[in-house]
Amino acid sequence: MNLHKILPDNCIFKNINLSDYTSMHTGGPADLLVTPDSEDQIPEIFEYARKSGLSVFVMGNGSNILVSDEGYRGIILHIGKKMSRVESEGNHIYAQAGSLIASVARTAAENNLTGLEFASGIPGSTGGAVCMNAGAYGGEISQVLEYAKVVCNGSILKIPACDMAFGYRKSIIQEKEMTVLSAAFRLSAGNNDSIMSLMSELNNRRHEKQPLQYPSCGSFFKRPCGFYAGALIEQAGLKGFSVGDAQVSEKHAGFIINRGHATSTQVYSLMRHIQESVYTRFNVMLEPEVKLIGNFES
Ligand code: FAD
Repeated sequence: MNLHKILPDNCIFKNINLSDYTSMHTGGPADLLVTPDSEDQIPEIFEYARKSGLSVFVMGNGSNILVSDEGYRGIILHIGKKMSRVESEGNHIYAQAGSLIASVARTAAENNLTGLEFASGIPGSTGGAVCMNAGAYGGEISQVLEYAKVVCNGSILKIPACDMAFGYRKSIIQEKEMTVLSAAFRLSAGNNDSIMSLMSELNNRRHEKQPLQYPSCGSFFKRPCGFYAGALIEQAGLKGFSVGDAQVSEKHAGFIINRGHATSTQVYSLMRHIQESVYTRFNVMLEPEVKLIGNFES
């Protein structure tokens, strides 16, 4: 089986540095990175990987992953710009997985549809947002998704929202290692001025509270039950604490930022230090929201 029979040459890249593809701007090379331009290619890529004994990691916009400095041995299946069509029809928006969820929110606003305002500042793809059940300011994907079209064990299926096993930053996509091809959102008719003003209010709040001028993965840890991760980290005295160029943001202690030349190893060491300090002080074990890709323990 030949990958070049599945994908055009301009969709196959060898030895690609993943730091250029992640919002933390860290991480080593992937042996292979492929950027499909059609949904039909995706089951075939999995079949190729299975027959070749290669592992596959599905990447969207890289805004919630930390890739090890050694990189990834296998295929990074990057669903991005080449699969980013967004269409609106009545109260529905249909979006391919590689579209940005912020663009989907913008399309909704342009069509006077309300419900996705919360997502207008989230820097992920639609596939990543569905997989992570991304949310902010009281909204989350589970509230507006009608169904997701996915690849599961080589077949293409439509999964209705009620079968998505949505929870806080989780879904069946993570559990069953499915790949999102596209998503249908059901929204409500709204008023364009109100939609635009809510979006701009939420984006102003983001700019005020978050260190958006630095590379990061957003909030690094999940919100522990009954607490806020950022508050615990701050109370543990870690605001500004750094390992190399990886630093606990002074502006928002829930963010680990890259001050310039951080490595993933430094980000990982800082993460472990935060977990140990918060656990010692408050008996709360912070769980990363960010997905760790590759080998970190050697
Ligand atoms: P990636 O980082 O590429 O991948 C994340 C996970 O999704 C991986 O497990 C990956 O395998 C999986 N995945 C990606 N695409 C697919 C697909 N097509 N099919 C199956 N699985 C897939 N998150 C929030 O929830 N709320 C916020 O307010 C928020 N703010 C952020 C602010 C900043 C500055 C940053 C950098 C991040 C923020 N995030 C936030 C985190 C991140 O944007 C979300 O988790 C987003 O949904 C991740 O999407 P992605 O495409 O970047 O996924």
